[in-house]
Amino acid sequence: MSRNAESTAFRSALEVVRGVEPRVADAIAAELADQRESLKLIASENYASPATLLAMGNWFSDKYAEGTVGRRFYAGCQNVDTVEALAAEHARELFGASHAYVQPHSGIDANLVAFWAILADRVESPALRKAQARQVNDLTEADWFALRRELGNQRMLGMSLDAGGHLTHGFRPNISGKMFDQRSYGTDPATGLIDYDRVAEAAREFKPLILVAGYSAYPRKVNFRIMREIADSVGATFMVDMAHFAGLVAGKVFTGDFDPVPHAHIVTTTTHKSLRGPRGGMVLCGPELADQVDRGCPMVLGGPLPHVMAAKAVALAEARRPDFADYAQRIVDNAQALADGLLRRGATLVTGGTDNHLVLIDVSGYGLTGRQAEQALLDSGIVTNRNSVPQDPNGAWYTSGIRIGTPALTTRGLGAAEMDATAELIHTVLNQTTPGTGPDGAPSKAKYVLDPAVAESVGKQAADLLTPFPLYP
Ligand SMILES: *Cc1c(COP(=O)(O)O)cnc(C)c1O
Repeated sequence: MSRNAESTAFRSALEVVRGVEPRVADAIAAELADQRESLKLIASENYASPATLLAMGNWFSDKYAEGTVGRRFYAGCQNVDTVEALAAEHARELFGASHAYVQPHSGIDANLVAFWAILADRVESPALRKAQARQVNDLTEADWFALRRELGNQRMLGMSLDAGGHLTHGFRPNISGKMFDQRSYGTDPATGLIDYDRVAEAAREFKPLILVAGYSAYPRKVNFRIMREIADSVGATFMVDMAHFAGLVAGKVFTGDFDPVPHAHIVTTTTHKSLRGPRGGMVLCGPELADQVDRGCPMVLGGPLPHVMAAKAVALAEARRPDFADYAQRIVDNAQALADGLLRRGATLVTGGTDNHLVLIDVSGYGLTGRQAEQALLDSGIVTNRNSVPQDPNGAWYTSGIRIGTPALTTRGLGAAEMDATAELIHTVLNQTTPGTGPDGAPSKAKYVLDPAVAESVGKQAADLLTPFPLYP
């Protein structure tokens, strides 16, 4: 499709919106301008293709489609069936999975679907069996009480938050932390790497129903073959949440022991991070869990979003093309170039480097908290986010880390030379920023001092770096 047609499509869409609420059209246009100008290093963000974006803005949004392909609770779903089946087929082929459920609205929702599927499949509860056999009327008060108790006290073992795990793996701010009795495994304090012997030990002691692998801030590969062996040794269901690195799996950068799909009982993901699709989620599994997974809506999900499923089908079709494998490899090459550039300039990196799409800088080496570093970089046109480092002394709010990722800039076409230049800009800002003081003169974890001339100069250099790589020209 020509660039011209894409541009015309977006311009026309904006004009139509402008006719109703011009402030929304302005905000949409301003968002594109912001995204064009900033050096986007947020590890969980990307730029979806025009085809993916355009597939979302249409009449599918008007359609109710509870149920699954061919078995809907609403009439007239034949076209929704077409796009949902296509998205699922592309997902199965791309990841080599026997079953794909493409309805989850987000990564959190995909995890809820998976948790419910595992509970329903694994927990020995006569009351649950009755409920599932649609004999709900036969359930007594005592049955319901037993059912809630049995389902509500299961064990989950996942990666700790400060080692890079995710809230949805059993932590308090998410329902998973209230549903499950959770314990976590961390990383080796000396190397920053997962210590599989310690994971095995924790599994033997804790005997979880679910062993979860997956992360949002761990800069290394995970050996899913070993994790599966650990799960098997204690009879746990092995779940992998590949939300962050699905694009690297799709692009065959993570293969063999590092490809979660052949090793896990169930895999969840987002579709909008390194996979470069629309905002959404997805579940992959084998035949054993497929029926339970397909009950996601209405068990834990609201009605499907057919317009987003259409966009998932488009993005997954894109990810099956040979150039996506090239893209995935460039994401990792860029992350390594960025890490090398930072290390050469004296930065401290968690685990000393990366073998995926993200780099975690320990900014305590610059005398800063993550919050100070994040804001100073933002002032300089560099968009990152603060993140805990293992055993973080500054807690989850201020933190001591900056997480940076390369999927978005790689989509724009930046390469190793630009990554080195980016490392220089990041180092300059962090090096020139000093901690500020609070009203009482005490050291502040939030306030910082950065010469505005430095911020402006770096911002200009960041913009220049992007000029040769226009976004949606
Ligand atoms: C981003 C992320 C999620 C949540 O995805 P949402 O689409 O924001 O709900 C879940 N798990 C992991 C590991 C993630 O990185």
